[in-house]
Amino acid sequence: MSKPIIIRGGRLIDPRNRVDAVRDVRLEDGKVAAVSEKPLPLDGAEEIQAHGLWVTPGFIDLHAHLREPGEEGKETILTGTRAAVAGGFTAVAAMPNTRPVNDSALVTRLVRQRAAEADLARVYPVGAISKGLLGEEMAELAALRDAGCVAVTDDGRPVMSASLMRRVLVYSAPLGLPVMVHEEDLTLSAGGALTEGPRATRLGLLPIPRSAEVVMVARDLVLLEEVGGRLHVAHLSCAASVALVREAKRRGLRVTARPPRTTSPSPTRPWRAGTPTPR
Ligand SMILES: [Zn+2]
Repeated sequence: MSKPIIIRGGRLIDPRNRVDAVRDVRLEDGKVAAVSEKPLPLDGAEEIQAHGLWVTPGFIDLHAHLREPGEEGKETILTGTRAAVAGGFTAVAAMPNTRPVNDSALVTRLVRQRAAEADLARVYPVGAISKGLLGEEMAELAALRDAGCVAVTDDGRPVMSASLMRRVLVYSAPLGLPVMVHEEDLTLSAGGALTEGPRATRLGLLPIPRSAEVVMVARDLVLLEEVGGRLHVAHLSCAASVALVREAKRRGLRVTARPPRTTSPSPTRPWRAGTPTPR
């Protein structure tokens, strides 16, 4: 049994319990044992002074590149999870675009093994949608799930084939695997560097029409409605895509998306970064 810990006087931000205030927190065996407005007695615990600091539940990074296996010069599971916990992230979802690609149980098991050795943040492997991320042949989703993958994605690569995308939704649904997608019609974006508009013109860079993203979001929502499954749209960047996702959610489709930076806080959000610390 490890020594209890008291985190003293930090700004506790706990959205689930709607707390945003200065509190003392007592931890026992890695679990929260007490939260108090008044100073907690030390009672043999180790003390961490957190005045002026935020105290939050562990963050979860849905989209991390740990690069192992294959590109250890950039990052390893050890260095990546070390960085994660240093920044307050206690869980990371590891993208499959490693070398070899995480499109097999063998690679998934290796990632989990390395994560267990590092023993820092929890690592949730995300498997590939298609073998080798080539967008041609579906990876063995059941084997990936059984080995410990929590979702599938081809990460930065769109699934250009509608029939493959449809099949992936069909197979992933009973396995409970969300499908994370990068929405970009490559025939529309080909050669482009940034979204069509004055900035692209000013910089003299080839533009990408918004439709490159929006038509793919629309396509996948149609497929989702037809065959079921769970869709998560990563890298969402156009207002028209947000409107489509919002409308699909309203109709009860199981779709989520990473919100663009400019959305205003939703009314259900219990706190906002930048609000003054309550005393
Ligand atoms: Zn990525």
